[in-house]
Amino acid sequence: MTSPKTVVSYGRPKPWTGDTPTPDTLSTAFHSSLLGTAAVAAGLYKTAARHFLYWIDQQGIAVSIVDDAVVRRFEKHRCRCRGFSRHEPNRPKFTSKVRRFVRFLEDRGMVAVPDDIDHLDTALADYATFLVQEHYSAASIKSYRSEAAHFAAWVRVSRLRWQDVTDKHVALYAGHSCRCPVYRKRGTLIGHHGPLRRSKGARRFLGFLRDRQILPQAESQPYEDEDLTAYKAWLKAHCGSSAATIRRYSDEVKRWYLLLGPPSDLDAATIRRIVSHRITEVPGSAPTVAGIIRSYVRFLVSRGECDAALQHAFPPIRRYRLGTLPRYMDEATVEGIIASCKTDTAVEIRDKAIILLLARLGLRAGDIWQLRLADIDWNEGCLRVCGKSRRPDRLPLPQDVGDAILDYIERARPPIDEERLFVRVQPPFRPFNSSAEIAGIVARVFHRGAIEGVPTGAHAFRHSLATRMLRAGAGLESVGTILRHRSPATTAIYAKVDVPMLLKVAQDWPGDAA
Ligand SMILES: [Zn+2]
Ligand SMILES: [Zn+2]
Repeated sequence: MTSPKTVVSYGRPKPWTGDTPTPDTLSTAFHSSLLGTAAVAAGLYKTAARHFLYWIDQQGIAVSIVDDAVVRRFEKHRCRCRGFSRHEPNRPKFTSKVRRFVRFLEDRGMVAVPDDIDHLDTALADYATFLVQEHYSAASIKSYRSEAAHFAAWVRVSRLRWQDVTDKHVALYAGHSCRCPVYRKRGTLIGHHGPLRRSKGARRFLGFLRDRQILPQAESQPYEDEDLTAYKAWLKAHCGSSAATIRRYSDEVKRWYLLLGPPSDLDAATIRRIVSHRITEVPGSAPTVAGIIRSYVRFLVSRGECDAALQHAFPPIRRYRLGTLPRYMDEATVEGIIASCKTDTAVEIRDKAIILLLARLGLRAGDIWQLRLADIDWNEGCLRVCGKSRRPDRLPLPQDVGDAILDYIERARPPIDEERLFVRVQPPFRPFNSSAEIAGIVARVFHRGAIEGVPTGAHAFRHSLATRMLRAGAGLESVGTILRHRSPATTAIYAKVDVPMLLKVAQDWPGDAA
């Protein structure tokens, strides 16, 4: 493992021991602290420090209150400073030297920084050790370490106390325009990464600090708007929604939050705009989105925060019951997909077991995601599936499905202490984040087997199984039992799929005879 080129020192500041510092003594001390820097370069650092000190003196800014905002002002100042080059402050390479000088001042205790973690550098080193112990790959370790160091630098530059850091700050960090004094080589930031990687890295490091009790546990984590929290509670109490539904609804509302604006300003025009926007963008999902926003509006009405009439402001969306045929694959296609699954690697073995569960039992992606080792009853040859209704059902385990799961447990599943059946093949072998990852696995299986022209997604297997059972003469009721439908109306949609059977029943068009 290599250390980054310039690592910020986070130890307790060494107090300034000289006389009352003057610009001259400060810049000289900074100069001599630059060990290992070539003489010419060190000279440039010293000049930058002197220029900065001259400017803050002109502005009447005390050294002790210097922060990044001051440096940003310095960056933009129209230079009239006597004896200094007037073009330099606008050059990034120059201001990065100034930032390094500010860090030197912080380290010497000349500038007060909130410093509520003892030995942050030790914590960073422990974090690196922890990542190794968790078996992360070398690339992930490097990425997590560099993000942790970057986040630490940002917290310091922002003059934040660690114990005040919330998820809101993580979001700010993810989007900040970076000038942090880390990983700079010739003035440019090395490894500039996107907001996703930044927030993931910051969250993991915060989690680590909290787990080690270096920081207190966050009170309301994750950070969320009060309204949304109340909305979630309302969904649970008044609608009896499941955890998955609550998550789906609040995520959707969060997406429209800015457009919806404060409840008191909400009007019919805004609602119409959102719904019609959705109809043009993704017509298929418009009814669902409208339904979710309607539920949010009902919640606001129940709290008396918006006009009750708004519940009727939703434009009608044409949707016919049983209006579309479910997408399905014929038997040969499904068998072809199963046959295309190899079992040479751990990934292939795991994915084959998942495909068989989808194809033979018609499980939902969410069922597979939640499946636990304890849900398999090997003696009885049964599988316990909780499903959407949170009412467990027992399904028979067909031979080939059982064999595939056993093969997975014996040869591919890492020996870890985790109750979920399916986990990632990469260390630290965590379970999947959501059922959406099961759909991702199906897509990769199709890709590996060069399978094209079939409906995408995990649900196509469920539809195909239902269709196949109906063709084989099973009644709607038994199909509904296997698919664990709560309402017979849901199963009825499959009755429409039997196109060949419908053709047999259809009479000849009398026009032909005449
Ligand atoms: Zn100047
Ligand atoms: Zn930064």
